[in-house]
Amino acid sequence: MIKYQLNCKKCHKKFDSWFSSSNEYERLKKKKLLNCISCGSIKVEKSLMSPNFFSKNNKITTQDEKKVLEIRNKLKEYKKFVEKNLDYVGDDFAYEARSIHYGGKKRKKGIYGKASKEEIKDLSEEGIETQVIPWLEDKEN
Ligand SMILES: [Zn+2]
Repeated sequence: MIKYQLNCKKCHKKFDSWFSSSNEYERLKKKKLLNCISCGSIKVEKSLMSPNFFSKNNKITTQDEKKVLEIRNKLKEYKKFVEKNLDYVGDDFAYEARSIHYGGKKRKKGIYGKASKEEIKDLSEEGIETQVIPWLEDKEN
């Protein structure tokens, strides 16, 4: 659906009208089926831009931004949870994960840290389960 603002050239009345497409507008105009709602004249023209058409698009953008914010907030909460409950091992993640798995190294908490895609693949092939989570850097907070 497209909303056009129509202007009557005779009485200068401005009014909104809905069309299923811009083609429908042209079709009705050709058949002289477009009338001014005020004086009934068929000398009506659509405005070049319809403000409502744009506000509709803006609405979608706002919703998308809201979704992005929601996800960011969830990630922040998740990050807090991980930081509180797991030990950070930084770049030694693969090494530490193996030492727990093979060496029976006991840790009170689980670990988290950085690992490359290859390291994660190797670990999973060795039967060491890891979970990849998207991470927000502190500077982005
Ligand atoms: Zn009119």
